[in-house]
Amino acid sequence: MKVEKNKVVSMHYTLRDKGGKVVDQSESDGPLSFIQGIGNIIPGLERALEGKSIGDKFKITINPEDGYGDLNLELIGKVPRSNFDASEELELGLVFEVTNDQGTYLARVVELDDTHVVLDANHPMAGQILYFEIEVVAIRDASLTELSHGHIHPNGESC
Ligand SMILES: [Zn+2]
Repeated sequence: MKVEKNKVVSMHYTLRDKGGKVVDQSESDGPLSFIQGIGNIIPGLERALEGKSIGDKFKITINPEDGYGDLNLELIGKVPRSNFDASEELELGLVFEVTNDQGTYLARVVELDDTHVVLDANHPMAGQILYFEIEVVAIRDASLTELSHGHIHPNGESC
């Protein structure tokens, strides 16, 4: 069986930045599973995985347009520190949910001084080249329920 649209693929992955630092990886106790071809994962990885077989290992470099997109400056904003609760412990890298008329998203504190806080709601890897190492460990057909839900049901559990 090969990786193609509507197959459930399980893979181990390691993601490094351009400096070689590991920024994300599959859990040591199990691979990441997803449905191929429907946008569960970034486009560059879907394309690289297409046609691969169980046991295949490869490295792939993915540009921002096939990864987490370019940095969107509109998602970076400076707000007065007085907008925050005085009791709130603000620090660089802190992530919290922000809700506005566009919806709810995650924002990180990227700059901080006595009067202002700069928040960034881009994906942490937006605008960056991604260096992946991939190992395909399993491939199976997705169930009809999984396909209609657009996500996998581990161990046959529904949700
Ligand atoms: Zn479901």
